[in-house]
Amino acid sequence: MEITATRCPVCGSKRIAPLDPKQRPKDLQRRRKRAIDLVITPGAIRRKVVEFRTVAYRCESCQKCFTPERYDRLTRYFHGLMSWFAYQHITHRLGLRSLAALFYETFGVRVNFWEFTDFRHLLVHKYRKTCKLLLAQLIAGPVLYVDETEIKLKDGSGYVWVFASPSATIYIFRRSREGDFLRQMLKDFKGVLVSDFYSAYDGLPCLQQRCLIHLIRDMNRAILDNPFDQELQSITTPFGALLRSIVTTIDEHGLKQRYLRIHAKTAEAFFDALAERFHESEASKALRERLLRNRQRLFTFLQHDGVSWNNNLAENAIKRISDYREDVRRSAKEAGLAEYLVLLSLYQTCRVREISFLKFLLSQKRDVDAFVASKRHRRRLQHVEVYPKGYLPPSIISVRRGKAIRAGDTVAAESE
Ligand SMILES: [Zn+2]
Repeated sequence: MEITATRCPVCGSKRIAPLDPKQRPKDLQRRRKRAIDLVITPGAIRRKVVEFRTVAYRCESCQKCFTPERYDRLTRYFHGLMSWFAYQHITHRLGLRSLAALFYETFGVRVNFWEFTDFRHLLVHKYRKTCKLLLAQLIAGPVLYVDETEIKLKDGSGYVWVFASPSATIYIFRRSREGDFLRQMLKDFKGVLVSDFYSAYDGLPCLQQRCLIHLIRDMNRAILDNPFDQELQSITTPFGALLRSIVTTIDEHGLKQRYLRIHAKTAEAFFDALAERFHESEASKALRERLLRNRQRLFTFLQHDGVSWNNNLAENAIKRISDYREDVRRSAKEAGLAEYLVLLSLYQTCRVREISFLKFLLSQKRDVDAFVASKRHRRRLQHVEVYPKGYLPPSIISVRRGKAIRAGDTVAAESE
């Protein structure tokens, strides 16, 4: 492909003329580059190498010599190849070492470790907007499932928070487990927040639902620890019966307030009876106190459509962070993790919506809803892909500086 210029990048003049090849100043870039892409179709994956050519120009107004800006910013790898990388790396958890071998063995493409970092960086640059959009959708939505987990990094430790709904998932890293940022982030949230019993959620000014599976698990543990405590069982038995009848309704009709609200009266009666009773055993006192303290947060789901009584959605999403922790073992830094989380958010969103993550990436669409809506209409994709303005990957910068690249690291000199 030929890449041409129409105006001078320095003064903006359109009076430009191609330079005779022999007169090209030495500091101007070479005028041939190759870009590598993967073309992924239902039956095959094919490597595609595109050669780009250009000429140098001289501006007749300001006398500067230049090559076309689009040519300068041309990327070495195109979106199809980077999407394949993200798909293997995020969906199938392949490490960079395996991926480098895979690219070389199957496609004859030598990719360096630092170039994988470029891929991630460029993909994140493209999809950060998507994540912002998803987060806005979550906050405007009727229900939000939240969970958090600790992660140790090379440069300290912190917490990954997940915010999920049946249509989107967003992961966010924070250095501390303090919930202050939640208050700020959720200030416009009008739905029901579903969470475990972690106290950072307590003060948030929205409707809340605590995960009843957590509660049941704790009750079972208390019963095992105090097998002869009749008082304890006088609380857990009616609570269990109440929850069982609710779950039966859910199995039959789904999470519909129309069918569920009949249980609200039984729940209220349960709490009223509990409030009047006096307990002696430690275990039953503790449970009674906990139930009464959370009275307003245990059966909120009965009054709303589509709000679950457990936090499985967020807990499933947080499992991906345990996988990541296992895969990187403290070798990641905050910046790398933050980028990983952007891609993971897209992956998990596609997963809960039952959309192919790979196809979403390949579509080059940045809006998940738009992708779903236009699934059948294939857009013509652009043929030239360039780095974002002002960004050059470290690999190219070092080539330009004329640094000797160590032989062991080097990419096949395909674009030289
Ligand atoms: Zn000029």
